Amino acid sequence: MSLLLFDVDGTLVKSRGAGRVALRAAMLEVWGLTGPIDGHDFRGKTDPWIVRQLLRFSGWEDGKIDARLPEVWEPYLRHLDAALASSRTRPSPCAGVPRLLERLTAEGHHLLGLVTGNVAEGATRKLRAAGLDGRFEIGAFGSDSECRDDLPPLAVARASRLSGFGFRLDEAIVIGDTPEDVRCARVNGARVIAVATGGFDAGVLQAHGPDLLLEDLADTEAVLEAFEGLGASVRGDR
Ligand SMILES: [Mg+2]
Repeated sequence: MSLLLFDVDGTLVKSRGAGRVALRAAMLEVWGLTGPIDGHDFRGKTDPWIVRQLLRFSGWEDGKIDARLPEVWEPYLRHLDAALASSRTRPSPCAGVPRLLERLTAEGHHLLGLVTGNVAEGATRKLRAAGLDGRFEIGAFGSDSECRDDLPPLAVARASRLSGFGFRLDEAIVIGDTPEDVRCARVNGARVIAVATGGFDAGVLQAHGPDLLLEDLADTEAVLEAFEGLGASVRGDR
């Protein structure tokens, strides 16, 4: 049994701005401000970390942010639903991803999970909008921690609890599109595949030291081989 932990935006789905549109509308609705949201780089960051940065830019102290940040999620999810339903901002699956997930599920010896900065409900809704719902058994999310580095251990613990396999962190493979994905795997001793489908240049990703760098997930056989090469195969009693 192997444990594969996928990022969402830029890895599984091509975002077309639904998250940003929804967050802008939600922040305006609850606080009447957004900070410099249009130029802000969301990539690799957890949702609460994005909101904290924008509120700091707006002059809020962390104490006030801690007290009021939770107010944003209900309107965020409401506006996200609207953005995901709009043809302008609905996400689509990244190249090869539907076929890859189908193959991994059919092989039967992979546990598919998520490690994403999205709040859990946001991840679910984005995946559903891209037609990728129902594939992932566990996840760790921005709603679990503002710090992405906290997420792989949580995902591994949840996978172990669900499966009874007792996964170790160094057996998990994180798949993501940003330097933050690579780092959150590295600091936890997990293996990591970087994919250059989220706007980061392959050279930049390579410089952060992933175990493997792929241009995309389009070639199903090549990706399956890459997983095997990193040890994601059936092993003895596991
Ligand atoms: Mg991403």
